[in-house]
Amino acid sequence: MSIQDRYATAVRSSCLTVDARTTYSDTDVLGAMGLAGRDLAEGRTWSRGQQVPIPKAPLAVPLERLFMGDNYAAQEIVEIMVEWLRGKAPAMHLKLTMLQCADMAKACLAWHRDSVCKHCGGHGQGLIKGSTTLGGAICKPCKGTGRIPFERQFRHEHRDLARWLVGEMEREQGRAGPAAMRKIAARLDF
Ligand SMILES: [Zn+2]
Repeated sequence: MSIQDRYATAVRSSCLTVDARTTYSDTDVLGAMGLAGRDLAEGRTWSRGQQVPIPKAPLAVPLERLFMGDNYAAQEIVEIMVEWLRGKAPAMHLKLTMLQCADMAKACLAWHRDSVCKHCGGHGQGLIKGSTTLGGAICKPCKGTGRIPFERQFRHEHRDLARWLVGEMEREQGRAGPAAMRKIAARLDF
């Protein structure tokens, strides 16, 4: 079972008893994810008492929590991304208000969470007329890609910034699991 699956179980578990015999109890997994979140936010970890720098990924654990169904994580993610946008926009010669940054962060997060085209269910094409079989006309809203068009949601001059933000999210997604595993492995060293 992957740590993501274990984490999902642990988050839903109401029985948070510490089991000293395993390193994989619910409390262990939740604790490891919490520690991993701090490491990734601060860009450093500990290995045998030594501080070791790691690439920062403050979104990784909040994203993991969000995908596990913790909607509180969304607010945290948007706040972090608004700060990023406020830093990045001037570098791209753009002026965005706080509200515009928040709107962009929310739109990018919504797309990252679920970009499946709702018209065709992600198949990219419709049903053959009079049947329940796929293979009909190409889905117009998504042009057959099966995904909600991303760039069209943003003003032309804001698209590069929005694309950058989604790229950052994609880069951080998936960093939480391995970081949490390192925390569990580190405990096994003792
Ligand atoms: Zn479609």
